[in-house]
Amino acid sequence: MVSRAELFAEVRRLAAVRDEETADFDANCILQDLLGEKNPMFSPKEPVPDEKAAEILALARKRSKGFPLQYLLGQWEFWGCNFKVGEGVLIPRPDTETLVEQVLDICRREGLTAPKIADLCSGSGCIAVALKKELPQADVYAVELSEKALGYLRQNTQLNGCGDIHIIEGDVLGRDTARSLTGLDILVSNPPYLTAQDMSELQTEVQHEPATALFGGEDGLDFYRAMTELWKSSIKSGGFIAYEFGMGQHDAVKAILEENGFTDVELRRDGGGIIRTAAAVNQNYAAITF
Ligand code: GLN
Repeated sequence: MVSRAELFAEVRRLAAVRDEETADFDANCILQDLLGEKNPMFSPKEPVPDEKAAEILALARKRSKGFPLQYLLGQWEFWGCNFKVGEGVLIPRPDTETLVEQVLDICRREGLTAPKIADLCSGSGCIAVALKKELPQADVYAVELSEKALGYLRQNTQLNGCGDIHIIEGDVLGRDTARSLTGLDILVSNPPYLTAQDMSELQTEVQHEPATALFGGEDGLDFYRAMTELWKSSIKSGGFIAYEFGMGQHDAVKAILEENGFTDVELRRDGGGIIRTAAAVNQNYAAITF
């Protein structure tokens, strides 16, 4: 039997094949998860049963080939909550917490304690769950199309005690879906926004994530154009829209919002200093009929 210390060294070595900087972190996460202990390396001499060691090494080998750590662990943290993840659903990114913060700031400022919110392209449900956790009286709708993502979305709402989030299986680019939700105080979305160029240069890890959650058309803006146009009449006049987008897309997204009758566009930077989100006020007063 190998000791934990020996096993750690080997797992670390394999993880470092992908990224030297995160190798310690990866190895720690894998051992924590598989040994079921918070601090497995507090007992470095402890022997690891052969079968367990083989299981751990199999994961480490997958990691060394560029399989995302988050999928290996089967869960990832976002906004202090745990989300089940696996192939077929986008891994929650810390950047997206900026979008949650922006929506919460709007609610605080406007005194919205029980807003009606729709999260479009909900994926794992990280945005919907984080908002519901902070605003327990909110009426939250999560819209998702992918069958695989819906499986995770259902699990994640339940596991986080947010079973009253309304899950809508539908295409956010479909007129019927947009028509089924009206009177929204806030529409929030982190849609696919990578460009054709981005898709051709994806990191190995990201290549394992669903292209449908990443690719936003040639210039990455297809969803902003189509969703803003289609959903603006589902938002109350005076209500808000909040989007996440990619680096350098802020001017284009701002223009799309303004062309569609939204004003007071507020841009925000993520933790890495990149302008990452925009929120704006809906000024479309006329009741628009479909
Ligand atoms: N933030 C993701 C990435 O950089 C993209 C997610 C998205 O398209 N919404 O890979």
